[in-house]
Amino acid sequence: MAKTKRGKGLWNTPSRGRGTCPICLSTRIKLLYSVTNSNGKLVTVCKKCSSVNAKTADKAVSTVIIGFRGKLRRELDRQKQIV
Ligand SMILES: [Zn+2]
Repeated sequence: MAKTKRGKGLWNTPSRGRGTCPICLSTRIKLLYSVTNSNGKLVTVCKKCSSVNAKTADKAVSTVIIGFRGKLRRELDRQKQIV
């Protein structure tokens, strides 16, 4: 069986399979797992978040605007607490 989550195969994927996890906000982590939220929408998450339930997946935020900076991350954490 081919390893779909390791090695050279990842290099062909967008950003080499890495990015910011929309749930735990880890940056530069491998986003190779998907969870379904309550709307039936697939969210791509990291390994740690691969087992979350639909309710947690609903809290996923858009990572398009998240940079690598801790400042942005803190801001997002704050927004999460409000919601
Ligand atoms: Zn995660």
